[in-house]
Amino acid sequence: MREGSVIVDNIEKKTRIIKEIKVDTKKCAGCRACEMACSAFHAVPRFSSVNTARSRIMVVMDEVNDVFVPIRAGDYAQAECNGRNKYVIDGKEYAECTFCPASCPSRDAFKEPDSGLPLKCDMCESDPPLEKPMCVEACTFGALTYVEREEVIPLVSVEESQEKRGEMKIGLEMLIKKYGFRNVADTVARMGRKN
Ligand code: SF4
Ligand code: SF4
Repeated sequence: MREGSVIVDNIEKKTRIIKEIKVDTKKCAGCRACEMACSAFHAVPRFSSVNTARSRIMVVMDEVNDVFVPIRAGDYAQAECNGRNKYVIDGKEYAECTFCPASCPSRDAFKEPDSGLPLKCDMCESDPPLEKPMCVEACTFGALTYVEREEVIPLVSVEESQEKRGEMKIGLEMLIKKYGFRNVADTVARMGRKN
């Protein structure tokens, strides 16, 4: 993830580049070129084979209803979820989990066929970086579009604030050990009244 900075209201704020792939399902023809390109890019050695079972993108195909939906593999889920989504497209209800991007124990999607290890889209991270991900490059129908957008990072992240709280707790514990709880509490109360 690339990071930078931007000035907002005279304050320098950190930014990061968010990478997105926009999917226009109406343009998808179900050719599966995206699956082939992804599997070839992730083959070892690179481009040595094509096996769509190893692809990190899967095109859900309903040819009768002319519905084609490319799904990129998301995070691995250790347990199957309790609540499931049901999608209705153009009046047709699809089986639960049909469009889920997770690799999970309740189905075979997004699992490496030999090892069973989960597969996840890595946006084709490589060095040097690609101009656009392989699946987007391969999609001649324009169903996949690569977009980069800049996002301002909140000044204090949740992790940073938890870390700071942890440091404060350690500091307070040391003061209490040295001066006693009553003295520390009185000092903090006095400081509070001054502010
Ligand atoms: S971005 Fe790369 S890794 Fe992700 S699905 Fe597309 S080709 Fe595969
Ligand atoms: S390459 Fe494009 S048109 Fe072909 S299946 Fe993939 S997303 Fe659909």
